[in-house]
Amino acid sequence: MLITPTLSKLLKICNFTTTNDLLEMKKMTCKQLGGACDLIFEASTFEEIAELSKKHGMEMFQKQDSAHMEAMQEMQKMMQNPDAMQKWMDEKRREFEAL
Ligand SMILES: [Zn+2]
Repeated sequence: MLITPTLSKLLKICNFTTTNDLLEMKKMTCKQLGGACDLIFEASTFEEIAELSKKHGMEMFQKQDSAHMEAMQEMQKMMQNPDAMQKWMDEKRREFEAL
């Protein structure tokens, strides 16, 4: 396909509106998300950052990192109470959105 100046301009505009440039990247640490270290996660949505934190938690769990295993145990205790878990998630979401 031949890229005409008009088309290339259009592509640029489209690209601009779909890149992360317009989406603000927010940062939260592992600790802030119920973990145990100061690793910083960066994402534009709460779902994304929660996913990053979960992935990191699983990695640390596989490495048998005691601090993270302890933090996960705490989380598991909380998960037994859906109301408390929901409250915690809402709180974290608010914290994220306020960044
Ligand atoms: Zn961590």
